[in-house]
Amino acid sequence: MRSVAFHTLGCKVNQYDTEAIWQLFHHAGYEQVDFEDPADVYVINTCTVTNEGDRKSRQMIRRATRKNPESVVVVTGCYAQMAPGEILGIPGVDLVVGNQFRAQMMELIEKVREEKVPYNAVSNILTQKEFEDLDVPMFLERTRASLKIEDGCNHFCTFCIIPYARGLVRSRKPESVLFQARRLANAGYHEIVLTGIHTGGYGEDLEGYTLADLVRDLDKIENLTRIRISSIEASEITEDLLQAIEASSKICRHLHIPLQAGHSEVLRRMNRHYTIEEYAMKLKRVREVLPGVAITSDVIVGFPGETDDYFETTIDFIERQAFADLHVFPYSTRVGTPAAKFTDQVPESVKHQRVGRLVALADQLAVQYATTWLGETLDVIVEETMTQDGQTYLVGHTDNYLKVAFIGDTEQLGSLCAVTITKADAKVCLGELQASLSVLP
Ligand code: SF4
Repeated sequence: MRSVAFHTLGCKVNQYDTEAIWQLFHHAGYEQVDFEDPADVYVINTCTVTNEGDRKSRQMIRRATRKNPESVVVVTGCYAQMAPGEILGIPGVDLVVGNQFRAQMMELIEKVREEKVPYNAVSNILTQKEFEDLDVPMFLERTRASLKIEDGCNHFCTFCIIPYARGLVRSRKPESVLFQARRLANAGYHEIVLTGIHTGGYGEDLEGYTLADLVRDLDKIENLTRIRISSIEASEITEDLLQAIEASSKICRHLHIPLQAGHSEVLRRMNRHYTIEEYAMKLKRVREVLPGVAITSDVIVGFPGETDDYFETTIDFIERQAFADLHVFPYSTRVGTPAAKFTDQVPESVKHQRVGRLVALADQLAVQYATTWLGETLDVIVEETMTQDGQTYLVGHTDNYLKVAFIGDTEQLGSLCAVTITKADAKVCLGELQASLSVLP
């Protein structure tokens, strides 16, 4: 039996794509081995979101090429899409496949095996109109299932390379999404996480079918417990979607709504499609339709032109929005994006200091949000175990994205448990098991 090993860099969408690519090998009779072990094929699914992403991708590619000269080394993903020539310049690389046509990977591997000539299968992703529907019937190590519904982005934020690497919005056909969602629910997954490069863009390229329609249709799937929207832009939270969310019994009380900056002038320079006033209005509406909702966000610190005043405004704005958690990123210049050419770059030392202040604020806000749930009993999907001071805890997430640890039986991995929150924390809250609500098949 032939063997394949994978290494994936980057985001949840890349991880989903790797699961989908593994299915192709699985159907072709391959077994999966660890990346450190000898394999007939090595697949590196790369990331290019930062220059560091490119560097780490090259590092893993070189590591694969040094392993087994007889093996086939395949490079795919965003760095492959952006720089196939550069990658083919690395000795030992046999095949480069971009973010489209992964479905042909098995034939392409046979082609390079026979012809023994490296092959570049990358095409212009910006001309792609069709979502590449690769099947993932189940996940190897997951208790919450990602469900990829969309690829690409039409926004072109000035700091971001992703639209050039992933192309424009391509939505998956609703019937295909619903088919996979039913199958995942039947396989025992209590939660599906709607995932995509720009999840909120779902339906932009479909005739008369929107994310709100998809939420309504998913809500009809009986044995599905939870639907989580992985991320959505403020500008895409329509009244129709809010009504679908309000009417749903399965939507998680958690929305990740990237802010990126808390000053409208910085947002304008980022080419973000909202002002801070509009953003605040959307959060107010979200809280009206989903009381107790956890709103998490992303913030880029030190974007070119971000003055001390702009940053202080960002701090004030974030304090007032009472986020449940924040991902804080120092702006990093990404070659190939408009912002990389902006002249008023912020010094690294200033970025570093600002990141420190915002991370401290993020922890404070996370504790404040968790504290509002003290004494409440919430359903937790058990995802993993952790041992602390010799005690084994079960760990998982509530629908409002609190990470909770509690004492229980490891048999309950993958199951749904009712847990009372006994200690609030920015990272992992503590809880007490009240009941086991289901078991994993
Ligand atoms: S919305 Fe902006 S940040 Fe997000 S993927 Fe699109 S271009 Fe990048």
